This record gives sequence, structure tokens and C-alpha cells, in this order.
Amino acid sequence: MTPARQAMSESRLEGGCQCGSVRYAIAGAPLMTALCHCTTCRRATGAPAVAWAMFKEEQVSFAGRRPAEYASSPEAKRGFCAACGTPISFTASYIPGLVDIAIGSLDRPEALAPALHYWDSKRLPWMTFADDLPKYPGFPPTD
Ligand SMILES: [Zn+2]
Ligand SMILES: [Zn+2]
Repeated sequence: MTPARQAMSESRLEGGCQCGSVRYAIAGAPLMTALCHCTTCRRATGAPAVAWAMFKEEQVSFAGRRPAEYASSPEAKRGFCAACGTPISFTASYIPGLVDIAIGSLDRPEALAPALHYWDSKRLPWMTFADDLPKYPGFPPTD
């Protein structure tokens, strides 16, 4: 474990939607952080790319209202606040037991920096980044 990851795991992450009816707390460090450029993330959020942090489901606890869910594909569900529409989470049958949380919904999104780009083959041509992070045309390798 790198010092940076250790520091992250010691702090408790909290976040929620813009109206405040969905609130969550996260225990421990993410398994992965990434910027996704896929077309479904883009459509689901209206944003050119989405920064996600992946956790085990048991790391994330919701206080109060849970996100409403929309099946964006037969395999995947996107969680959002039913009152204000803020995108919160992503779960899918191909990543059982795991949940992606939208980094932008954290109270301190600066705490989790994306470590890679995925679905970079779908990245909008005007969306460029001054980073040297790995870029994968589709899903990143899972090993
Ligand atoms: Zn809300
Ligand atoms: Zn995506």
C-alpha cells in the first residue's frame, strides 16, 4: 500500500446530492479511481466525462434516502437523487459486490484523484487532459 492510499484509507469520505436528501459515508480507500469517457456515462450525466471511485458495496453506507435507480443497460443501474437528479452511483452485474461512486458527489472531491482513463476511445476530441495517466480504449484490465 502506498503512503497516499494509506492516508486515504484513514480518512472517512462523505458525500451526497445537491439537495441533500441522499447522503452517504464511505469507509476505507477505493479499489480504483478513473475517468470514464463512455457514451452512457456522458448521456446519464450530461457531462463530457465522469470521474468514478470504485468501492466494495459494504464500504458505502447511505443515510436517509437511498438513490433511485435507472437501468442504463440490461446489466447496469445508475443511482441518482430522485428529488434533484444528481448522479451518485453505478452498479452492474459484471462487477458484482462493487459500486462506483461519482467523485463529483463527494464533499471533498479533491481527496480522490482519477488514476486512469477508460473508454478513452469514446473521449470527445475537445476534451484533453494535461496528465500522463494510462488510457484504455475500453474497460481497463482487471487482473
Ligand atoms: Zn438530491
Ligand atoms: Zn462510463
